[in-house]
Parts: sequence; C-alpha cells; structure tokens
Amino acid sequence: MKKIYLLLTLCLSSQAGFVFAQSKDAVAKDPVVENIVKEATENSQLEKLGHELMDVIGPRLVGSPQMQQAHDWAVAKYKGWGISAKNEKWGEWRGWERGVSHIDMVAPRVKSLEGMQLAWSPGTNGKTVTADVVILPDVADSVAFQKWLPTAKGKFVLISMNQPTGRPDYNWQEFATKESFEKMKKDRDAQTDAWANRLKKTGYTSRALPLALEKAGAAGVVMSYWSKGFGANKIFGAYTKAIPTVDISLEDYGLLYRLAESGHTPKISVRADAKETGISQTFNTVGEIKGTEKPNEYVILSAHFDSWDGGSGATDNGTGTLVMMEAMRILKKVYPNPKRTILVGHWGSEEQGLNGSRAFVEDHPEIVQNIQAVFNQDNGTGRVVNLSGQGFLNAYEYLGRWLSKVPEPIRTPIQTSFPGAPGTGGSDFASFVAAGAPAFSLSSLNWSYGTYTWHTNRDTYDKIVFDDVRSNAILAAILAYQASEDPAKTSRDKSILPLDAKGVPGAWPEPRKPTRRGGLD
Ligand SMILES: [Zn+2]
Repeated sequence: MKKIYLLLTLCLSSQAGFVFAQSKDAVAKDPVVENIVKEATENSQLEKLGHELMDVIGPRLVGSPQMQQAHDWAVAKYKGWGISAKNEKWGEWRGWERGVSHIDMVAPRVKSLEGMQLAWSPGTNGKTVTADVVILPDVADSVAFQKWLPTAKGKFVLISMNQPTGRPDYNWQEFATKESFEKMKKDRDAQTDAWANRLKKTGYTSRALPLALEKAGAAGVVMSYWSKGFGANKIFGAYTKAIPTVDISLEDYGLLYRLAESGHTPKISVRADAKETGISQTFNTVGEIKGTEKPNEYVILSAHFDSWDGGSGATDNGTGTLVMMEAMRILKKVYPNPKRTILVGHWGSEEQGLNGSRAFVEDHPEIVQNIQAVFNQDNGTGRVVNLSGQGFLNAYEYLGRWLSKVPEPIRTPIQTSFPGAPGTGGSDFASFVAAGAPAFSLSSLNWSYGTYTWHTNRDTYDKIVFDDVRSNAILAAILAYQASEDPAKTSRDKSILPLDAKGVPGAWPEPRKPTRRGGLD
C-alpha cells in the first residue's frame, strides 16, 4: 500500500506541475524537476536494465569475462541514449571464469547439496572428485597438527564451525523463551571461541590453513560462511591454488559435520569447473554529458560496477549502477544541455579496495580539482535515508539548497548530518573525499542488506525493490541537475575534525594508491 501511495503521489505531483502552472505553486515548481519525475515514473527502464545486467550478464567479479561484458553493455546502453561513454583502462587482474559447481553427498545416503566454489577457486580439472569428509581436528598444538596433516590426504576437510542453529537471531527473539534464547547465545559464544582456538592451535592463519591442507594432499577445502539469515552465505575468494575450495549452505554443512562427528563417514562428490583466463584488463566505464557554460567543472554520478559472484551482485552494487544509469538516461532526455559537465563513473574493483575510483582520482587531477559534487550510491536497494556532509564545512548550505528541490516524499525521509566526518572507506565516494573533492554517499534504508544480500549467494534480481530504486534515480538526477545549475562553485572548506584520544585534531584521510595489478603475483 505504501508503495502505491508513493507512486500516486509522484504521479499527482508531476501532473500538478502542468495543471497548476499559473498558481502560486508555480514559484516552487521547476519544469526540469517535473520532467525528471515524469520520465522516471512513466518511462522507467530500471526493470529492463536490471534484467539485462543481473540475469543475462550476471555477477561481475574483477577480471572475469562477465565484468568485461558489463563494461561493454554499459557503453552500448549509453550510446543508445545518445550519451558518449568509454571504458577507461586502469590496471590488470588475474583472469578467472566461474564454471559449474556440483556438490553431492553420496554416502551414507544420496543428497544434492547447496554450495559453490569460491571465487578464484581451482576447479577439479573436468573430473568429479569423490572422497570422505573429515572435520578439522581439535589438536593440542601445532606439532600435533603436523602429525595429523598426512591423514588429510585424499579427504575433503571441513574447516568452519558447525553453527548450532540455522535460525537467525530475530527468529529466536520472536519465538524462543527468553531463557532458551540466552542459553543458545551463551553456548554459541563458547563454541565460537573454542573453534577460533582450534584454528589457532593448528599454527596456521585462516589464509595459510587451506594451503597447508592442499600441500598435505587434501581433495578439497569445505567451508560454510553463514551470513546469519535463512539460506544466506557470504561467498568470497579462495586461497587454495590447486584444489577446490567450496562453500556449502549452513543446512548441508551441518548435515555433513554431524555425520562425520557421529562416525558415519560422509562422502561427497565435487565437480567444480573454473577457467584461468590469463591477464585481463580492468576498466572504469565513464559516460559524459558535456557542460555548455562550464564544461571544465564536473558533477559526477558514481557507483561501483563490479561485484562478488555468489549471487548476481543485485544490491551490491547492481542497484547503485541502475540508479546512476537511469539518472543519466533521464538527464540526457530532459536536461540535455547542463551548465557543468555531468559524468557517470561505473568503477571497477571496488570490492578489492576502491581500486577503480582511486585510479580515476590519480589519473584525472584536472577533473578532481574541478568537481562540483560527487554522488555515490552503494549500500543496497533501499530509498536514500541518510546524507552526510562528509566533513565539508559548507556542505549544509549547497546540499540543503539542492535537496529543497527534491519532491517531498523523497526528501522528507532523508536525515542529513552536517558537517559530518570524512569517510575513510566503505565505497568510492571516499576516494574523492580523500582528494578534498566534495563527494557524498546517498545512503540507503537497509532492507536487511548486511545479513541477506551483501556479498551473499542471495544477492539476486528478486531482492531489488524497484520503487525504491526509482525514487533514488529521481533523487540522483535532481541533485546532479541542481549541482550543475548552481551559480556558485561548491566550497571545499574542511571542518576541523574532533580531537582524538591524545587531544590532537583528527586528520583528513589521505588519497591511497589503487592496486593496479591484482591477483597476479
Ligand atoms: Zn558495494
């Protein structure tokens, strides 16, 4: 109901602009704003773009062929809308392409398991590998672990703790007695400490342990990185170089673990295909609507383009990508001659350390010096509800003015904080803030982002809340329009940061170097 109400309000307010053009409302109405809202609501391309990017191309791991496909797709889309765009090379990365992952339990009974190889995992060389599953043992110390290691030969080794419950805490909160919820948490904490200690006693770090198992001749490494929500696991990168590392859902991992523990010797079959594709080039896709009065001053719409690859990167950062593409499309249509140049940056390899945007900042000092504003979005599908001044002393003045042009239902929920503190990371706006350029994060309502979609196997098209994304596209387009039109160049004055523990004022973050050669050494 609420969504329908929002849409209705938007439609009504856009019509009102035409109907009451002569009324006292007209003072506040701006035809460009009206047209942005109208285009976004009546001719939205978001669902189509979302389908093409998330379903057809899929996840966008740095160095993968899908990342390259996405860059080429974006350039073609922009060209189709009459916007000039190009892929700008900034580095190189290990090329890797995900193939199938099939994991089945074949003893003591047969069950297909939900799981997949991690990014950059070695495959099984076209074969299906069948072997016993064993649990990482609880040994006295690293000497005892070295003695155990040879027994890992030919086995799949479980290296994650077996979670005591697959129910998220909010579910316990709702239904458990207070006593049993407290007891579960206490037991789980103790178990978590004991598992950390078990890992420590091997003498290996979490990064080195899979390699030690590989060296000992293990068939593969099996883990489960539960994201604390029903069915959700986080899927990152593998450390093994020759044997597969697979992540298995909490439910199936627990099954294997309990069977191994009770002496039923589970056996699994794993087929993992992965292709090393050599050195691949890494890019940012940059689109441009040239400014007519101040072409050398820039408003930048910003969202990273890459993703992890357990899901399809729908909310991290498919939605930010859609917001900025749609905003550009709308601006080109209803505001084709901006005063300042409007750029869009779809950055590569944010997930490995803001690499694409850091490279852009390093490679384009002439642009960075003349940035009017950067608007970045990268925390899920929700409506924007927070906007910080990022420590810029006068951001309240211009952001406040620009926001006043945004339709009330979109503007009112946005909590502003001024001057705020400069972001040191988290997403690409930080690359610009570090260089002293006014850059802001359009921060979203969370929609269980951290638990269910952020870097998980559940970050898929169906999690996109298109009405919220539409609202964000309208917001981004209006802010870019306002920043472009503003007669004044934005102030870069920095606020004095709060004193640290030693009584010294905090320091503004320093620009950091991108990694321009990743995963290759
Ligand atoms: Zn992200």
